[in-house]
Amino acid sequence: MTIQATNLGFPRIGARRELKKATEGYWSGRLEDGELKDIGRELRKRHWSLQAECGLDVIPSNDFSYYDQVLDMIAMLGAIPERFADIGDGKDLTTYFAMARGTDQAPAMEMTKWFDTNYHYIVPEFCHDQHFSLSSSKAIDEFLEARELGIHTRPVLIGPVSFLLLGKLRDEPCRPLDLLQRLLPVYRELLQRLVAAGADWVQIDEPFLAMDLDESARDAFQQAYDGLAGSGVRLLLATYFEGLRDNRHLACRLPVAGLHLDRIRGNDHLDELAAELHPDQTVSLGVVDGRNIWRSDLDATLELLEQARELLGQRPLQIAPSCSLLHVPVDLSLERHLDDELAAMLAFGRQKLEEISALARALNGQGDQARSTFEDSRRTLHARSSSDRIHNTAVAQRLAAVGPDDVVRDSSYPVRRKVQQAHLNLPGFPTTTIGSLPQTMEVRRTRAAWRRGDIDDATYRSFIERQIDHAIEFQERIGLDVLVHGEFERNDMVEYFGEKLEGFAFTDNGWVQSYGSRCVKPPIIFGDVRRPEAMTTQWLRYAQSCTRRPVKAMLTGPVTMLQWSFVRDDQPRSDTCQQIALALRDEVADLESAGARAIQVDEPALREGLPLRRADHDDYLDWATCSFRLATSVAGNSTQIHTHMCYSEFNDIMPAIAALDADVISIEASRSAMELLDAFVDFDYPNEIGPGIWDIHSPRVPSSEAMTRLLERAASVIDRDRLWVNPDCGLKTRDWPEVEQALTHLVAAARTMRESTSQRHSA
Ligand code: GLN
Ligand code: ZN
Repeated sequence: MTIQATNLGFPRIGARRELKKATEGYWSGRLEDGELKDIGRELRKRHWSLQAECGLDVIPSNDFSYYDQVLDMIAMLGAIPERFADIGDGKDLTTYFAMARGTDQAPAMEMTKWFDTNYHYIVPEFCHDQHFSLSSSKAIDEFLEARELGIHTRPVLIGPVSFLLLGKLRDEPCRPLDLLQRLLPVYRELLQRLVAAGADWVQIDEPFLAMDLDESARDAFQQAYDGLAGSGVRLLLATYFEGLRDNRHLACRLPVAGLHLDRIRGNDHLDELAAELHPDQTVSLGVVDGRNIWRSDLDATLELLEQARELLGQRPLQIAPSCSLLHVPVDLSLERHLDDELAAMLAFGRQKLEEISALARALNGQGDQARSTFEDSRRTLHARSSSDRIHNTAVAQRLAAVGPDDVVRDSSYPVRRKVQQAHLNLPGFPTTTIGSLPQTMEVRRTRAAWRRGDIDDATYRSFIERQIDHAIEFQERIGLDVLVHGEFERNDMVEYFGEKLEGFAFTDNGWVQSYGSRCVKPPIIFGDVRRPEAMTTQWLRYAQSCTRRPVKAMLTGPVTMLQWSFVRDDQPRSDTCQQIALALRDEVADLESAGARAIQVDEPALREGLPLRRADHDDYLDWATCSFRLATSVAGNSTQIHTHMCYSEFNDIMPAIAALDADVISIEASRSAMELLDAFVDFDYPNEIGPGIWDIHSPRVPSSEAMTRLLERAASVIDRDRLWVNPDCGLKTRDWPEVEQALTHLVAAARTMRESTSQRHSA
């Protein structure tokens, strides 16, 4: 039986972000509807041809999207929320982009993270009497479009159970899965239309089948696939981001023609699967990492596939990436600045398909056609295990020597608190900000000019110092208690540090879609992390020299640096995280010597790193909090350690947040009107905390009364003498006038709280 080389999805943004530029051009009116669609068609054609050239036997379609694949399903299934009913004709790009981006009359649909990736999808909105109907022929059109080009594709759909579970139902107590029976007929119709167009296989993505499921979700899977059986098309049920684990029986019982498993994230025993799968079911093994950028160890993968072939007997076998390649950049060959040694270790989307194809050839007895790909893999592996750019003995020794004393402060929080009160002498309800101040065009332009070499170091330095002068003068005038230097020298909170650390590399074109037209270029952590010299002390020292009030130094935490990078896969993530922590530990010590009385270590991505399966949470939270403490616990008792978190809901990880043992945490809270505070009813947070009282993502500046109300609510569940007053997040995207207004209100709110508290005490 020949083994097929397949793909589950290709990045659609384009190697040079062509789709980003085109959609943004369309939104700004520079491009007509027809011009945007031409570019879309051109990209699909290019990507299909590229996959064919790579030697794939199965090429996906309907993996293209102008914004988001979940939004495409919303449009296809006719689940357009009522408020968009009169915008566009429901089938065109006007309605589509209105749902994604909102209009003056209709706010955008909610967006959230796609499982544990950095991709964000549009959250389907349902109501209890939700009506579904087949409302777009996108999947069929794209299948036919590829066929015209002579390419027979396997269309990709998000399966009905995952589609519902991804969504939210407005009116409780109904749950999204209650809508399954209404939804299934539309899926059946869609599948029949695909069959009529000539499709023989459809890839149906059900990532939830690899998550923790309750009884009702398991039932829903059974009902859904019983309901879709007999539609005349063969379904490849694709799971990813985790193994099946306890859902194995369920997955093997479903009446589908094939099952895709993520063999990078999951390690379900293939013999157990083989015992349960139907003898003619196709098995697709995701053996090439769809979420990271390292070249595979092809010899080891081949061996694994040979064993799988034994175990699976006569069943047709497909080789695939672990998940859609949406999460990796398009093509390594566009990189101009990576050195050869490092570049040889990497594989982006295109290179991953070449690996899949080489594996299939080797298994099909055409190994000689794949020889050079295998040789490259062997050479890389050797280089990765021996290169001294990757392995630094001093770093390894230092990590091995870390002991329990290195992750605890000198004294417990109550003792530190007294020392810090004496040292910092702050009023009740102390006010502060999260770190960055407005990054004006002038700041961005000057920084870019310096990076290009158009202005010299001295000029740049004095420019940043003038910004700091202004920032300090501003904060003193407004009346803030703990000041910041403003982060004018930083472009991005991870990149800034990554560029100063050994072990990090940066690409020219390693873009990955984050949401809609927004792309990110994650750094690559390729080797042992070391800090060759101090990274931030000069700015802190300067800022502190301008004022008698404490200036809080700013660092990005180890977990966040890990979470927002492509991380080496040749050692546990926890080891890499602790190496970053050790580098930051030295920076914390240097900042303290440079005169910092408060140091903030930001961990906005702590919650994002939480594993998908509950059984894995504790292990992660242990090493993540331990890394933070390794970075910070070098600080003496009198140095106040702050941390900051945002972008997530934190209620379910409060004990871990407490385990960071930061003296103060500032945490996003105002957007959800202090829902966060519910967590404090059951959990007594032991240290100081500043729940954000200004949602900096909203264009509105709240009044000081509104801020006071939020603080009063916080004071109803948290001791008044442990509350801080601060915004939700950094201010770099805001402009100076609104920052001035909002911070003036914020300081007024803190003063009101101080007065009302002293009245309570004297009463
Ligand atoms: N210190 C950073 C800032 O103020 C924190 C950014 C963040 O939380 N994402 O910009
Ligand atoms: Zn933040």
